[in-house]
Amino acid sequence: MEPAEKKLKAMEPQPYHQIGNGNSNTMDVEQQQKVMEPQPHHQTGDENAEDALIHSSDPLHPANHISDLCRRFYTLGWVTGTGGGVSIRHGDHIYLAPSGVQKEMMRPTDMFVMDYHTKQYLRRPLVLKPSACTPLFLAAYTHRNAGCCIHTHSQWAVLITLICEAGLQPDPAHPDTPTAVFSINEIEQIKGISRGGAGSSEIAEGGRKLGNLGFYDTMRIPIIENTAHEEDLKGELEKAIEAWPETCAVLVRRHGVYVWGKDVAQAKTQAESLDYLFQLAVEMHKLGLKWVS
Ligand SMILES: [Zn+2]
Repeated sequence: MEPAEKKLKAMEPQPYHQIGNGNSNTMDVEQQQKVMEPQPHHQTGDENAEDALIHSSDPLHPANHISDLCRRFYTLGWVTGTGGGVSIRHGDHIYLAPSGVQKEMMRPTDMFVMDYHTKQYLRRPLVLKPSACTPLFLAAYTHRNAGCCIHTHSQWAVLITLICEAGLQPDPAHPDTPTAVFSINEIEQIKGISRGGAGSSEIAEGGRKLGNLGFYDTMRIPIIENTAHEEDLKGELEKAIEAWPETCAVLVRRHGVYVWGKDVAQAKTQAESLDYLFQLAVEMHKLGLKWVS
């Protein structure tokens, strides 16, 4: 095949479920080691298959969608200075924005693609580093069956953790851990937050239907302590996910927030609703108003 023809073929849109090598589960150890070895341009060596994972004319293809979301979130101040991150799970493929790339300049060709089951990279641009958020995103996929995870360094999220750190807005229901949870109620926007981040069709253990919070519910988001390296947050984030089965997010002290949802629309709705509530709560605090009535 001529180089130009080869390139055009690689750029043809393909159904998501038909792309990738699809054999990751059956690879023997030698094959898996080969996948792990750096190749001249990409990791797996099959350039056409790898490029097919990220080329599509569909704006909602994960590689295009993440690039678009990064640009939008940049304008909100959520991913300033290459901070934060976005990931989408599509079937057996996890798409991840890389580390160190200006978020407003993100392109589909920058994407890392991982096999959900083997956790091997199917596509790994060698000039870029994988995101340090990757183990945190995987925790949301594994423990909450999320379809999308968003990490922001929003100043409102950081300020909430500082107000809680000072013990200035203790939750009456959690008097023993006043610095480890952000709680707010009787604000309309909490209706944008689902229980567990898994949507209204999910049924919790015991038969109680999961859905979005109501006006008279209290929204509670756990806060974990920051670590020197982002990937080291994984253990505490997993503990928080387990300890707070209804939460769709975890705040990280002096750092930001991780938010997930069953799909991109829900994760984005929840990230926006939370940021609205964080900002509102900071302003309420400045006015001397309590978050929990
Ligand atoms: Zn971060």
